Amino acid sequence: MSELRQHAEDVHAQFSDHVDVDVADVRERLETLVVDYKVPTDEARRSVINHYLEEAGIEREELAGGSSEAVSIEEIDEPERWVELTAKLIELWEPRSDSIDQVGLLGDPTGTIKFTKWAKSDLPRLEEGGVYRLRNVVTDEYQGRYSVKLNRTTVIEELEEDLEVGDDTSVIEGAMVDMQRGSGLIKRCPHEGCTYVLQNGRCPEHGEVEGEFDLRIKAVVDDGIDAHEVIFDAEATEGLTGLGLEEAKEMAMDALDTTVVADEISDRVLGSYYRIEGPTFGRYVLADDVEELAGPADSESLLIKARSI
Ligand SMILES: [Zn+2]
Repeated sequence: MSELRQHAEDVHAQFSDHVDVDVADVRERLETLVVDYKVPTDEARRSVINHYLEEAGIEREELAGGSSEAVSIEEIDEPERWVELTAKLIELWEPRSDSIDQVGLLGDPTGTIKFTKWAKSDLPRLEEGGVYRLRNVVTDEYQGRYSVKLNRTTVIEELEEDLEVGDDTSVIEGAMVDMQRGSGLIKRCPHEGCTYVLQNGRCPEHGEVEGEFDLRIKAVVDDGIDAHEVIFDAEATEGLTGLGLEEAKEMAMDALDTTVVADEISDRVLGSYYRIEGPTFGRYVLADDVEELAGPADSESLLIKARSI
């Protein structure tokens, strides 16, 4: 039974910081399972660990906590590492689930990364534009993209200094050559935290719903070398076209047709030249900062810029 004692000591060591438990209690639970119920040792150990996790109300991942290494965002290249980040909160997104308190984008001079803060983490709210030192965050990976998760053991320290955010902000200078489907006056699912655009009045998650109007442009901008897909939200669309959501709704009502809005927008913007700056999400650039240009930058300077990237 010395094997069980060793297991008991291991389990105890994992929990002693989190739960008031003694080795004898751990060992007794293991013995009951292994000796009385003939449960294989590994399974018994898992079961006992789960029991204490539940009792302590903590996640398995939190157990690994403790010392976390300070890294920059671009250094994050594997999941389930405990790290410390100093980052600026660039943007908050709508959480898709009640289990998430906050979700959004963090940035540091080397890049940006998604973060998730669990509702039960009981951490203070982070504000857009705030710079934070985040200790004990856990890296995660989904389809090749990394993120970090803030949990109950995460320590958040707000810093006074500003932080430059680098890298995957894109700057595009070029002509708006096309507008994609789903541009203009669209309807979104009204469910809290759901931002799906309705297709024929249906949300992929919530079925048939009474949608809420929104305005956006999914544009193709050609810089002479590449075509870039750029999304303008309602605010950016109004800044670009002078057409706001209310006016767009009136236009659509007068015409009894929402497509007039997209037509009007394309009349105003297609063929014009812009300098667009914003963060990259997958294949899209979100237009944060837009400036209309007089005309195409000369091709030579474009080429020089392209080579320098
Ligand atoms: Zn929905």
